[in-house]
Amino acid sequence: MSKKDYYEILGVPKTASDDEIKKAFRKLARKYHPDVNRDDPKAEEKFKEVNEAYEILSDAQRRAQYDQFGHAAFEGAQGGAGGFGGFGEGGINDIFDMFFGGGHSGFGFGSRQPGPEKGADLRYDLTITFEQAAFGLETEIELPRTEQCPACHGSGAAPGTHPETCPECHGTGQVQYTQNTPFGRMMNVRACDRCKGEGKIVHTPCKECSGRGKVRNRRKIKVKIPAGVDNGSRLRVPREGEAGLRGGPQGDLYVYIFVKPHKLFTRSGNDVICEVPISIVQATIGDEIEVPTLEGKVKLRIPEGTQPGTIFRLREKGIPSLRGTSKGDQHVKVKVVIPKKLTEKQKELLIAFAQTGGENINPEEKSFFKKVKNALGGL
Ligand SMILES: [Zn+2]
Ligand SMILES: [Zn+2]
Repeated sequence: MSKKDYYEILGVPKTASDDEIKKAFRKLARKYHPDVNRDDPKAEEKFKEVNEAYEILSDAQRRAQYDQFGHAAFEGAQGGAGGFGGFGEGGINDIFDMFFGGGHSGFGFGSRQPGPEKGADLRYDLTITFEQAAFGLETEIELPRTEQCPACHGSGAAPGTHPETCPECHGTGQVQYTQNTPFGRMMNVRACDRCKGEGKIVHTPCKECSGRGKVRNRRKIKVKIPAGVDNGSRLRVPREGEAGLRGGPQGDLYVYIFVKPHKLFTRSGNDVICEVPISIVQATIGDEIEVPTLEGKVKLRIPEGTQPGTIFRLREKGIPSLRGTSKGDQHVKVKVVIPKKLTEKQKELLIAFAQTGGENINPEEKSFFKKVKNALGGL
């Protein structure tokens, strides 16, 4: 079978540095990794190709041999059609460091114990009022979660008994098997059937949890919501999630905050905004009014000649920042209300007011006919 050039497989020039080769390998290995391409048999072939190329090119001596003699350098040396005898361990660990952030779950070589695993995180949606968001609150939430069985402390074995190390996998939870491939025999690993990957077998299951080591509980949890949270804030309560596996820590609880809208106030960052109606007289000659704030009513001076839409700022009457280092303001927007119904007396006064300003107002002349008559000089 004709073999592809190793440099071509990795997409690097013959002059590539060790670093460039490593980079190219990582990129391709991630792309073609069987875990990511379960439905694509071609990806697996590619993955093997890439591994083989890296195996040779990452080794200075073998790379030199390959540069000199090509594929012929390794023919017969390792047996098998292509002379490929399994991946190098270093290569595999490299990839799994990237996938699992340094963990080696599920695919290690050699013997090891199935490690402790952190429990799943939980989410709880909490709806609070505008004021509660502003001032914070302590509350109790109730949620179902999986907890370690108190009777067997999570082992799944009845009290007084102990789980036995699985004789099939010697406690590793994994079994190795070899697979024949066009490149030779490959070592693979799968979860142990006998202990289902747990590494331990329970002969006398705990009655409380039926051997699962975990029980489902409804749990009340106190949570402290800090002042300043906003709609969409997410609060992490460490170690209040689901039980961990094999002695691993509990997951975390995430409380998602939803804030109900307020009748008077809206929020912009840590500032509170409200609209206050005033009359045209107040706007014109000024007044002192009372304005609602989160901490009760405060007095606000409306100066003479205030225009509609003017915004007054009440310093530090807003919402504290989450870290408690500062406080927002309240913005008061005035809405000048034009009266819709006036008494005759009020109308007279307003007309008189207009006239003193030299304005000629004739509110009765409103029909089109009369206006025409006027324009024609009273004919
Ligand atoms: Zn139990
Ligand atoms: Zn086993």
